[in-house]
Amino acid sequence: MSIESVDTVVCDVDGVIVLGTSPIPRAGEALEAMRAAGLEVLFITNNSTKTRQDVADRLAETAGYTTGLDTIINSGWATGNLIAEKHRAVYVLGSPGLRTTLKETGVNQTEQWQEADAVVVGLDFDVTYRKLAETALAVQNGASLYATNTDSSLPTPEGLYPGAGSLVALIETATGVEATPCGKPYEPMRRLLADFVPGDAIMVGDRADTDLALGTAEGWVTALVLSGVTKSVDDVPAEYRPDLVLASIAELPAHLGI
Ligand SMILES: [Mg+2]
Repeated sequence: MSIESVDTVVCDVDGVIVLGTSPIPRAGEALEAMRAAGLEVLFITNNSTKTRQDVADRLAETAGYTTGLDTIINSGWATGNLIAEKHRAVYVLGSPGLRTTLKETGVNQTEQWQEADAVVVGLDFDVTYRKLAETALAVQNGASLYATNTDSSLPTPEGLYPGAGSLVALIETATGVEATPCGKPYEPMRRLLADFVPGDAIMVGDRADTDLALGTAEGWVTALVLSGVTKSVDDVPAEYRPDLVLASIAELPAHLGI
């Protein structure tokens, strides 16, 4: 796939469009310009703390870009689609946004770890030792362990916060059980992409092991932006080497001839 044939722009959100509650400078304008030029602009985020509607609201409030739910997928959505039919009672270590997203996909949830036949771990800003303990107990009790995503960190204006992957690693260490990961670049997320991404795509992301890995696996053009967790293309493993390296998404329209 070459950049000339690209008709769909798939964007990561954290570190690409927004950084915490701050916009990446001129990200909203870049998104508007690409949409106005007739490109399909879609968003795939591993951040499971927010519902898809929350993501749409965040794009509007932070970057000034208004878009519909049909342009947004997150890792909680991918997780729910994978497990809703498989498990009868799911214990969730995660944010209220994740709980809502799982409910929207038909996942039946329980607050009682003893009842759980599956556990979902996502980023939880209100994590406590008790919640971690109950999560580990459910897994020891035989519940299947799923991770919304494995991003080790979350970029913020202050620096990197621990991401969902850090909590997942804690539970894996405590139990000796390996989680099934659901977000970018893993199979549960990729399964949703056939319908979601209609054309020849470019993946725009700030993280190699999720964004560039997904774009590479899908055979898309890939663009690394240096506005998030990755500060140099030298930090990117050879197998995920991007086609483009940009200071930020603000530079992308020019590369697409806009
Ligand atoms: Mg990111």
